[in-house]
Amino acid sequence: RTLGYAIVGLGGYGLGRIIPEFKNCTRSRLAAVVSGDPAKAKKVADEHGLGADAIYSYDDFDRIRDNPDVDIVYVCLPNSMHAEYTIRAARAGKHVMCEKPMAISVAECEAMIAACKAANRKLMIGYRCHFEATNIAAMRLAKSADTGKIRYVRSEHGFNAGDPTAWRLKRALSGGGSLMDMGIYSLQAARYMTGEEPIAVTARESTDRTDPRFREVEDMIDWTLEFPSGAIAGCQSMYSANQNRILLMGTRGRVELEPATRYEGNRLWTGRDGREQEVSPPPGPGKTQFAGQLDHLSACVQDGGTPIVSGEEGLRDMRIIEAIYRSAREGRTIRLA
Ligand code: NAD
Repeated sequence: RTLGYAIVGLGGYGLGRIIPEFKNCTRSRLAAVVSGDPAKAKKVADEHGLGADAIYSYDDFDRIRDNPDVDIVYVCLPNSMHAEYTIRAARAGKHVMCEKPMAISVAECEAMIAACKAANRKLMIGYRCHFEATNIAAMRLAKSADTGKIRYVRSEHGFNAGDPTAWRLKRALSGGGSLMDMGIYSLQAARYMTGEEPIAVTARESTDRTDPRFREVEDMIDWTLEFPSGAIAGCQSMYSANQNRILLMGTRGRVELEPATRYEGNRLWTGRDGREQEVSPPPGPGKTQFAGQLDHLSACVQDGGTPIVSGEEGLRDMRIIEAIYRSAREGRTIRLA
């Protein structure tokens, strides 16, 4: 049997990216939509053969508890709404897939984990790169003898933000600027490429506060992570240029991705001393990274597993994100527990 997903938030990602991916899934299907726009919700439901009983508004969302066709709620809302809808979904007895960043504070992440635990429901974060063939191959190469001991990782992510009224640029909805949205990819890369947890972070921020886009949130933030092995990661994110890459330097070779974490078209090289070669990665777990991600949570629910990108994984990132902001604000290195 395939498991039914309710998509909460019919925006760029939920509607534009996730809903079309159910056709690539083997264990997951669209079962309901949750939207503040009844006309849009009806149109999407009609297009996917769903009836009126599969449409929810934000106000009557809690009724979803009475819909046995919905097994999993996928939260694709602005960041500040992730905690509320994850907790309401868990209380309604549903498993939860929540988009990145998991929430806008450590306290919210902890409350989300507690709510899912109390309801005995799974919680997974939408870290799609763990299901993307190029990134999976890069993680494997990072561990290989040909790469040697990992000494350094570099990762940069960003895009040129446009509309100054977008929710991503409003602190109350986003929780922060480029770090919350794109820097989390750089941070994830530093952690999944080294396979280590950082012990210290040093950060600095550069934002033109006269730019109307950056009245409330940061543009560029750059941070260094120190790892127990002695490896260092230099990470950065910004909202003033397009960038998307990961570089890992080992004592015997390098692993490089550019673009690294896009929806499609990621590329990977490995080798050393100017003899780097492009690698064609073996297929990932799903037909696409999105299908692999959706089916992974379905498989965890059906077979009783724990998601490889659990709520705890989202919480780990949020702890580091809070430390990055603190380091930039206070101008000093922050030690991580
Ligand atoms: P979006 O603006 O395109 O969509 C947001 C949706 O939330 C819209 O349908 C909007 O109507 C709804 N919404 C409800 N209340 C709102 C409010 N108060 N203000 C604004 N919108 C409100 O955003 P998006 O790009 O779809 O991002 C949604 C989430 O998905 C974010 O957390 C984002 O970080 C995440 N995301 C993840 C990826 C990925 O690759 N994993 C890519 C894009 C977005």
